[in-house]
Amino acid sequence: MKLNDVIKDCINLKLDGCATDSAIQCFGGNLLEEKRPVLAIEISTKEILLWMMQGATNAHIYISAGVFHMNALYGPTESFPAARIYFMKTENLLLVGKIGAYIEQHGIRFGPVNDAGFSKLIDDAGYAQRYEAWHEKWKADTRSFDGLLGGRRENTAVDQGIWLSSDGRCLVCGVKTDRMATSTVWGKSGMMIGMQLCLTHEAESQKQSTLLNYLAKHLGGTVMFSNMRPRTAEEALEQACEALTVNLECTIVKVEEQTVTARRKTGVTVVIRQHSPSNYAYNILSPEGKQLSRVDSANHHKVPYGPDHVHSDLRKSTKNVVKASFTYGDVGLDLKLILKLIQEAEGKLSNNQKVIH
Ligand SMILES: [Zn+2]
Ligand SMILES: [Zn+2]
Repeated sequence: MKLNDVIKDCINLKLDGCATDSAIQCFGGNLLEEKRPVLAIEISTKEILLWMMQGATNAHIYISAGVFHMNALYGPTESFPAARIYFMKTENLLLVGKIGAYIEQHGIRFGPVNDAGFSKLIDDAGYAQRYEAWHEKWKADTRSFDGLLGGRRENTAVDQGIWLSSDGRCLVCGVKTDRMATSTVWGKSGMMIGMQLCLTHEAESQKQSTLLNYLAKHLGGTVMFSNMRPRTAEEALEQACEALTVNLECTIVKVEEQTVTARRKTGVTVVIRQHSPSNYAYNILSPEGKQLSRVDSANHHKVPYGPDHVHSDLRKSTKNVVKASFTYGDVGLDLKLILKLIQEAEGKLSNNQKVIH
């Protein structure tokens, strides 16, 4: 994900420099480092530089090792400990003059600043303390997101996560909230985006708010919403069958209503029942038809990030031992966990008996 694209999108949306900087702050928390008091973003054109200078705390030229940096600087805030600097740089004094003239024509004065002045602007002396306070809060805000992301990484096609920080407030309207909303952007793999929204905006985002469309636009891929145009039953079945044959190397035995039965070469059988993302089950059976393990969405167990859960061992004594499954209710996305269950089943087979080919 490129912060530069976020800036371009913000400008296309006619957000001013300050609002653009706020959007950058939302993403920027993922990039903050304890030892770096500045989030520096190089800008590609003088027009964008001007745009950012117009809302900036300070605009100046800073010379470092013979390179001129033309900076639009936004000072640290209560919720973001590092200064953001949007800059163009060059060693060419003529170019500096040219860009400078363009910026000044638009009413912005910016002169050189020395090391001491720069250090004061970014308040680097206070950064360590600001960072520590911010980091504590960040960890608390993202704890639940991190847990979900960890599970999704293990069991599904998700491999990245971004937390959009809004400091314990709704990202859209700023009302205090402790609700977490996530949506997942699918390209080759999935990137899960977490944010805080109030109840109203959570409901709105589920109707594909401009916010999420907006996020989707510059993060690429298609956003999957829990209530995106539901796939038709035929489409869902077709996709499940494809994932079963192509990715899980099964032969389809039968398809009945919303249920697909497929078999591995070893005889281990997978039965997928898929009514909706909130009503589904994946069953793993032995060649003799004995139930071995299952993922399902029934709200019968108290699990974190539930109700979706996995029964790893359906023998009598352990059948009610469940763990959060972190699954989406879509075979294609949940392949990792299904494959793991299949492999566990096949591992037991080869221990207990010879595989009959
Ligand atoms: Zn809100
Ligand atoms: Zn269950």
